This record gives sequence, C-alpha cells and structure tokens, in this order.
Amino acid sequence: MWDSLVRATALDKSIRISAVVSTKLVDEARKRHRTFPVATAALGRVMNAALLLTWGLKDKGTITVRVFGDGPLGGIIADANALGEARGYVQNPQVDLPLNDKGKLDVGGGIGKGTLYITKDIGLKEPYTGSVSLVSGEIGEDIASYLVKSEQIPSLVSIGVLVGPDLSVQASGGIIIQVLPNTPEEILTIIEENTSKIKPISTLIKEGNGPKELIKLYLDGIDVEFLEEKPVVFRCKCNEEKVRDILISLGKDEIEDIIEKEGGSEITCHFCNEIYTFSKEELEDLLVDIEKG
Ligand SMILES: [Zn+2]
Repeated sequence: MWDSLVRATALDKSIRISAVVSTKLVDEARKRHRTFPVATAALGRVMNAALLLTWGLKDKGTITVRVFGDGPLGGIIADANALGEARGYVQNPQVDLPLNDKGKLDVGGGIGKGTLYITKDIGLKEPYTGSVSLVSGEIGEDIASYLVKSEQIPSLVSIGVLVGPDLSVQASGGIIIQVLPNTPEEILTIIEENTSKIKPISTLIKEGNGPKELIKLYLDGIDVEFLEEKPVVFRCKCNEEKVRDILISLGKDEIEDIIEKEGGSEITCHFCNEIYTFSKEELEDLLVDIEKG
C-alpha cells in the first residue's frame, strides 16, 4: 500500500474529513533520525498532524506543527506542504521509556507538559501562528483542543503510529473529522458510535486499510463525497546550494576561522539529518566567491 492523503466531505460540506496513511514516510523519518520507539511514535504523530492540517493549502502553503514539552523527548517539529511533502525531527531521538499503564508507547510522558504551536503559511501574507497548552501530549487530543480553541470547530482527531519489535514503523496515519456547527445531532451520534466500535487507527492501517477505507469506517452510514487523493512522502527542502548560502552568510572572517581551526566543515540538516561536508578547498572557493561579491 502506498502512502496517501485523502480529503472528503459529507452532508453538503458541513463535515470535512482528512485522512492519511504514512507508514513509509514515518519509517523514513525513523531511519534518518535513528529514533527509538517512543520518539518514532511521537515524531510520527506530529508529522501526521501536519499532513492532515494541510487542508485547503495552495501550491506554496505550509503547515508547521511544533510541540514543546518538558519531557525527555524535548521539542518536536514537523512541517508539511500542499504537495504532500513532510519532514520533521525530534530533539532527543534516542529516548527510551517504559510502556504506559495501557501497555502503549508513552508518547505523553515523553513529551510532558507544554505548548502546541501551529503555523499556517499560505505563501502570501505573514504566516499565522496559533497555540494551545498541551492536554495530554498524546498529540491527537492536543490537535483536537487546538482546533476547537482556534477555529471553534469541534473535531474528532485520531492519530496513531505502530512500531514493530524490529523498531520499524508497521503502521502510521490519522484522520481528522471536522463538524461545522448546526450539523444534526443524530449525525454526530453516528460518528461517535462508529468511532467507539472500530479498532484503533494504527491497527486498521496495519490490516491494510487506506485513507478512503478509514473514512468509510468512521463515517459508516453517512454519504461521503471524496474530493482528492494524493501521495505523501518524506522530503526536505534542504540542498547543497542552500547550505552553501548559509556558509556564505557567515562571512569571510568566520569561514577563515573554520578553515584555520577545523580544516573543513560538516553541516547537518536538523529536519532530515542529511550531512553536507565542505572540504578546506571548497571553503576556500567560497572565500573567492565572497571576494568577487
Ligand atoms: Zn534537510
């Protein structure tokens, strides 16, 4: 099954749904950052949240989700764009914690108490950032709390990442169902009943359900109109050109200092863990470029 994001509406657009399956994408993040299970789950959930919230973004838009808690994982940042590209990192990827009292990976304990920030950049004006105190640090609940507080739209949010015994990601994905005010009560009851009957979302994904199937399960009994499906992939915006620009921006003195003290330079992209190395000769070439202006 390929990773994809599906959007749908129901009841004449008074319900809008976004569902994603991102198993390969989150496993790519795990491999790049060498995360331990609780960090894999936490980062994966935050990446899923960013992907799900890209609803309505145009070509250049980006959603950035930042979670800053006082737990051992430290900060977690992920962004996703309208093209279905996401990236992210967790400050302390090699954190190991005992399972929580439900026998699950203790994402809430790893994140701790703190704040969730969501930035919506539509590529035109100033980006908008909203924030909310973390409810549990389990991410799903926190996103739901954010949506109620900032957009006054009650939302059902379910996000899950299943990590296997070999530490790989066996299932990852999520769903957000937003219900606009004045939706008939019985519709809400149907969705609530469906949600209470079905298995956890990561189990459903592991069993092979794609985003469309997830939507059908959560909205069983309601007519759904599918709007679009697109692939999602782990992709970072960094490249050698940009890293070179960063080095150049340090200025002549700083680069001369690096050449003298370290010989060369190694720069790691936080978001994707890609390492860019610059030899002494390459740094000297940069100096020539700077002199030329
Ligand atoms: Zn990168």
